[in-house]
Amino acid sequence: MRAAYKIVLLLSSILAVSLAHAQSQVSIIYQAPVDKIEIRIEQQLKASSEIPETLDLINDTFRLEAPLQIIFGGKDGPLFDGDSLQILIPYSFIKKVESRFITAKYDDSGRSIAAATMDAVMHTLFHELAHALIFMHELPIVGKEEDAADSLASVLLIEFFNEGQEIAISAADLFDFESTDSETFEEDDFWDEHSLDVQRYYSTLCHVYGSNPEKYAHIAEDADFSEGRAELCIEEYNSLSHSWFTLLAPYIYDENVSQK
Ligand SMILES: [Zn+2]
Repeated sequence: MRAAYKIVLLLSSILAVSLAHAQSQVSIIYQAPVDKIEIRIEQQLKASSEIPETLDLINDTFRLEAPLQIIFGGKDGPLFDGDSLQILIPYSFIKKVESRFITAKYDDSGRSIAAATMDAVMHTLFHELAHALIFMHELPIVGKEEDAADSLASVLLIEFFNEGQEIAISAADLFDFESTDSETFEEDDFWDEHSLDVQRYYSTLCHVYGSNPEKYAHIAEDADFSEGRAELCIEEYNSLSHSWFTLLAPYIYDENVSQK
């Protein structure tokens, strides 16, 4: 074989490998909005920088077994559907999240309603992505898968996103607002596959604090964690991030991993 021909072959195989990498494994579909509010929500999602950043992150970082679709709109969700390999997030869910932040006058806390709503969408997206990764790679999960999905969402946001902790804090606050929906607990709150909203609130805050105890010392104080629990949050976050990266290591493109 002539040398020049060999070089062409080599170059084309390198190109094929990098194309395979660049090939989008994740795509986004926006369903037709059904009213004016949904039209505005769709526009906000399309104008956000977080959604394309998330797509790039997933495409550049994770090897998926099959293409994954993220669908905004529709009626069902938020959920990951293992049969169709789709993450479904309805506009109506985003609308509900936005109203909760408005009712709570969340912008008084210094984060705008629009930013907080987007934060909650991101946490939801990463929670559903966690279910997708667990399903596609048959990752072993001991304990509740819903808790595992929450923790992976927090770890990915914190490790890969600028302001990931702030995103997780807004999501935690949303769990807090949801926890006040009913004054008493019913049986189904306890047999539900999710932990109680109030537990999801504290767990998420615990992981944010544990990821950077100096910067987020105020979280442990505001949440009134005992000294012992605060210490455990640090250990818990280290153990969670270590466990997740160990489980996901075979499916991460090493050269593209650029944890912030
Ligand atoms: Zn879930």
